[in-house]
Amino acid sequence: MSDEPQLPPIPAVGDILDRKKRFVEKKHSIVKCGACQADFSRLFKAGDFVFKKLTDEECEKCHKSKSLTITEIYSEWIDPKKKS
Ligand SMILES: [Zn+2]
Repeated sequence: MSDEPQLPPIPAVGDILDRKKRFVEKKHSIVKCGACQADFSRLFKAGDFVFKKLTDEECEKCHKSKSLTITEIYSEWIDPKKKS
């Protein structure tokens, strides 16, 4: 039996910080089409907000414009080094 103290592993604070720095926030807006009722998400664009009407974009599904409304905005953190 050894009396040598077992040092706990060094807390991986640096790791966590590095990871935080490494992650990239990716924002999406969920858009609903008033013409065909389709929901889809697309990349967040500057100026997006919930209930905003997108008069200059067309629906991904039916390709009608001026009928899209943003219903939700969400963001996710992705690791650019990780291949999904
Ligand atoms: Zn549509």
